[in-house]
Amino acid sequence: MRKYNIPIFIPHRGCPHDCAFCNQRKITGVDTDITPKVVENQISEFLKTIDTENSTAEIAFFGGSFTGLELETQEAFLKVAGMFFPNVSGIRLSTRPDYINDDVIALLKKYNVTTVELGVQSSDDLVLQLNSRGHTFDDVIRASKLIKDSGIALGHQMMLGMYGSNPQKDMKTVDDIIALAPACVRIYPVVILKDTALEDLYNDGKYIPYSIMDAAELAKDVLCAFENKGIDVIRIGLHSSDELESDGNIISGPYHQAFGELVESLVFREKIEAEIKSRRLCNCELLYPCSKNQVSKVIGHKKMNKDYFKSKYNIELKCFNKGEAK
Ligand code: SF4
Repeated sequence: MRKYNIPIFIPHRGCPHDCAFCNQRKITGVDTDITPKVVENQISEFLKTIDTENSTAEIAFFGGSFTGLELETQEAFLKVAGMFFPNVSGIRLSTRPDYINDDVIALLKKYNVTTVELGVQSSDDLVLQLNSRGHTFDDVIRASKLIKDSGIALGHQMMLGMYGSNPQKDMKTVDDIIALAPACVRIYPVVILKDTALEDLYNDGKYIPYSIMDAAELAKDVLCAFENKGIDVIRIGLHSSDELESDGNIISGPYHQAFGELVESLVFREKIEAEIKSRRLCNCELLYPCSKNQVSKVIGHKKMNKDYFKSKYNIELKCFNKGEAK
């Protein structure tokens, strides 16, 4: 069974704040207001493109703070989404931790919402404050408990390299998230977008973003930490879009179209290097067994792992896939 998300972007709707790093219209590529009719059309059109017999699809409201919308608007969107059961298997949405309470949970349960993803971003209250998040980590703890106790699956979204953070604080956030045991997480390195407070901080020399490779190395550690605890990492890095990538929208920071693949390549690099060191290999050919869909990650984005082992150990890295060396 193939799994699909039917993404419905509601940029900045329901947001009481302008978080320092956020420009959802640029991130989502959506610049129009969304109505229930638009939602209905988007879901219908998406379902026409997939084989519903042999796949499952979840409707996913992203890009704003869904539960910060007026109650009637939330209900109108959820009613429309509910019309598509059983052709869709669930409804997921993203929101802020301070916009979860008993009334909100009752509404989400009434309309069979299956997953709520909270924008955690950091567990450090000073970092949250510096980035104008308008909530504390205690709000995350409280909201996470309410969601889990209701039987709705919990997701967390975190950022790497926020203004005021550093790799140690980012890894502390990982530990604090693990303690709350979400079902899934998304990891986003901070990218400086046009027309944000972060752009001003950057221009004033007060904020220095991570480089792509520093962010990828850190994201590799974060990915491994979550996976070691059985937490599903469902996204690493921003989705690319024409709007996001159009001229001047990305000011600076670790944006890479294939950031997730870069990170997974580094995971394989670490495993292979451990093997090379333990077997004291050099000046040889190394045949690394992997499945077909792992080949590009083992070899690395733009052959980066192959080149790395060649130059560092004079080792020719090859993949063993069903008896064939690549
Ligand atoms: S709450 Fe989320 S969508 Fe709203 S401004 Fe902050 S980051 Fe952006």
